[in-house]
Formats: sequence, C-alpha cells, structure tokens
Amino acid sequence: MKKIKLSLNYAGFCFANGKHVVRGDSKKDIKFHALFGLIYHPEKSWILFDTGYTERFYDVTKTYPNKIYAYATKVIVTKDCEIKNQLQQIGLSPSDIKHVIISHFHADHIGGLKDFNEATMYCSKVAYNDVLKSNDFFAFSKGLLKDLIPFDFNQRLVFIEDIATIKTDNIFDFSYDLFNDDSILVYNLPGHAAGQIGVYIETQKNNYFLVSDSCWDERAYKLMLLPNPIVKLFFDSWDDYKSTLIKISEFSSTYPNVLIVPTHCSKTTSRLVSDKIDLNVL
Ligand SMILES: [Zn+2]
Repeated sequence: MKKIKLSLNYAGFCFANGKHVVRGDSKKDIKFHALFGLIYHPEKSWILFDTGYTERFYDVTKTYPNKIYAYATKVIVTKDCEIKNQLQQIGLSPSDIKHVIISHFHADHIGGLKDFNEATMYCSKVAYNDVLKSNDFFAFSKGLLKDLIPFDFNQRLVFIEDIATIKTDNIFDFSYDLFNDDSILVYNLPGHAAGQIGVYIETQKNNYFLVSDSCWDERAYKLMLLPNPIVKLFFDSWDDYKSTLIKISEFSSTYPNVLIVPTHCSKTTSRLVSDKIDLNVL
C-alpha cells in the first residue's frame, strides 16, 4: 500500500443513551464524538473523511420537522471545534481541502460539507440515492438533514463506484481502490445507513480501518455485542448491520495489526485524537 498521513480529531459531539449503544449497558448518557479524518496524500493533497458537526446543525433544526431531531439528540458544538477552525490553527484554509469522502449522510458526518466549496465529494451511489429518495418531511427521522448538503453538491459529486478500480478481498469480497494508486481502499459497510462506506489506509506508523458507524463500540466487533434492538427503528437494515459486523470482526482477527476505528467509540478514539491537528502522530 502507498503510505499517506492521517490525523483524527473531534468536531463536536452528541449524547447517546448507553443502553442503546450496547444491549444490557447502563442507560447513562455517553458522549458520541463526531470524529473526522484529515488525510494528506502526496499527489492528491488534502482529503477529509467525514466532516463532523458544525453550528449549522442548530440553524437547520430551528424549525419543524427538523426541530424534533434536535429535541431527540442533544448536540454540542462550538465554532472553535468546527473543522474549519481546527484547520486554520495549522495554517490551512477550507479551499485547501480538495476531496471529501462521505461515509454516510447522517448529520454528525456531513455537518461541515458546506465549508468546502472547492472539494470534490465522494460517496457511494446507494448512499446518495437513499438521500434523494427520502421524504423531505421525514428525512430527519433517519438522521438526515438535507439542508447540510451544499447547493452545488451534484456538480462536485463523484460516485466511488464510477472512478475506483475493484480489488478482490477475502472477507468483504471486494474493495474500491479510490484513486487507483493503492492509497485509500473503500469498503461497503451497509446496515447502519444505506450505502455506508469505510476506508482502509496505511501511514508510516500504523494501519487504520475507519469503519464509521458500522459499530458504535469496540465491544461490538470484539465480542459481537449488539446494540439495543430499539435502534432498528433508525437503522437502514438490521440484517446488513449484523453481516457487516461479522465481517469487521473477521477482519480484526485476520489482521490484528490493523486499528479498527468506529467513529463514536471513545475508548478507541480518545487515544488517537490530539488537542490540535497533528499529522505526525498516527
Ligand atoms: Zn454517526
């Protein structure tokens, strides 16, 4: 694999009921950090994997029906922790971001999309078609806030399936080599959301599989502990969720040297993030 640089950081968080995250856990609220990845690729330049929350979340949930989303999910985000400001701290401006890889379209993953006006956006066809076909009024109940998507999104959108070469994979059947240079492999991880994807990358120091929300807690793939069945209400497919989880579990035991990173698992991510973006840690 071609080695690239990675930094992982948080852009806001929400509270989740611990009992929903892992069946049988206490119902006490736990922090669900909105993790994003900043990647530096020697030829493609700056790339984001997801964009976390921004204060735009508050703007787009001021009125009904989206207001119901804000009632149900307490989101905490300030200007300071938005990606745009974290990038500024290391001397980057939003226009330096040339590519944004979207794992899926839930609000905690696309909150910052509108900041990156010069970036090409990448997602799976299934994920975007699911957004297009979702009912405008009820989209919020599936975690979608369409107002977070840039107006010119269609002009800058590239479907991963249309540009990437396919590599066979023993566990997932295949992956997409996004830039056809063995630097970023994209895996289909359906279940939590339609067309959800994750990325596998290698840095000089380690190997990472960013699995987005295909599980919320590392105990899910390590011990096959499932979330509370109540989450079926807003998951795209429970059967797909379970088969994706089985594959991640198999991946983890086949490749113990790969760090599997579920977006919202604090136990995994707290040792990977730093106060300031740093591309020399991971
Ligand atoms: Zn999420």
